[in-house]
Amino acid sequence: MTRPVYVHDLDALAAHARSIRAGLPQGVELLYAVKANPDPGVLGALAPVVDGFEAASRGELRRLAEVLPGRAPAAYAGPGKTDEDLAAALAAGVHRIHVESPAELRRLGGLAVASGRPARVLLRVNLPVDAPGASLVMGGGPSPFGMDPADAVECARRPPAGVQVRGIHAHLASGLDAPLAGAVAAAVVRWAVAEVGAAEVDVGGGMAVDYADPAARFDWASYGRELGGILDAYPGLRLRIEPGRSVTAYCGAYLTEVVDVKRSYGEWFVVVAGGTHHLRTPAAKGHPQPFTVHRRRGTPGPRTDGGPVTVVGQLCTPKDVLSRSATAGPIAVGDVVAFAMAGAYAWNISHRDFLLHEPPLFRTGDPREVAADWAARPPRP
Ligand SMILES: *Cc1c(COP(=O)(O)O)cnc(C)c1O
Repeated sequence: MTRPVYVHDLDALAAHARSIRAGLPQGVELLYAVKANPDPGVLGALAPVVDGFEAASRGELRRLAEVLPGRAPAAYAGPGKTDEDLAAALAAGVHRIHVESPAELRRLGGLAVASGRPARVLLRVNLPVDAPGASLVMGGGPSPFGMDPADAVECARRPPAGVQVRGIHAHLASGLDAPLAGAVAAAVVRWAVAEVGAAEVDVGGGMAVDYADPAARFDWASYGRELGGILDAYPGLRLRIEPGRSVTAYCGAYLTEVVDVKRSYGEWFVVVAGGTHHLRTPAAKGHPQPFTVHRRRGTPGPRTDGGPVTVVGQLCTPKDVLSRSATAGPIAVGDVVAFAMAGAYAWNISHRDFLLHEPPLFRTGDPREVAADWAARPPRP
């Protein structure tokens, strides 16, 4: 077998999601941002643990209806919602529609009146937030996402007919560690309550995932304490978060096999089946994707000398790099390479038909066991 396989460890995912939940105070609603990984198995494993799902396209609404029939999505978001998108969200009974602009709010109001279903919305605001201690300002610059604060205040004061403004939504950055995410959440809530009297605030996702350290995790307990402090300061507030990457990144692995090993002008290259058309994460994020090697006995081909290697795929472009300068001991043709942290923004954001190579397979299980089984198969002659 040289066809790459995605392996989703759904038990590990459910356990990780429960540990996130355990770090959050009672009153905080946990939504999962479906765009990070809309795999049906992933959604099914998360369903008993999260409070709901955030969809950002009609395709995601359809997927949720298939996997979780009868459970209306918690939120519908995203820029560029068409009238068809908005009508579909109303028809699906989505709890909150996150509105990106005053014009979108007016269109939604018209559709809501016509359909006889009121639209319950959060206004997405692009708020400048000064994160104390981080010498960093987030939001508050020109962006296609969200409304300027003054526009959001105006929309909240004078919503069009058919629309009930329930509060504020903000998703200002990604890669935030727990202290920074907590400070951003506090700043967003402070503004939302003071400026629009919001009873509900969704402070977004963007919790950090460190691809250089697969064992590291976002500090949910410390973030949870910060959110608990916000709830204490604003009794009765409905507070919501919608992480994606930090929920599912760890549960997926992309397994493939070494097809060729060679030295080029003094550097080792390991060529694997598949590539960044299956796993775009390292190209999109500009990082080496962490991997482990499962050695196969009796492989006849060449092997590296154990020094640093560049791992590339089968695409005819120098950008098809999965990992650069990684040291993993000697690697031979036929060895199985298991890329970890491939459970978020992986297959679903990849340019999957590049060179018309076959897509990967999909399995559930423990990636280490699947890789070990693969590596235990005899090498091809
Ligand atoms: C992408 C996105 C999320 C999830 O972000 P992560 O970095 O995956 O946690 C949440 N909310 C909105 C509005 C988004 O666009």
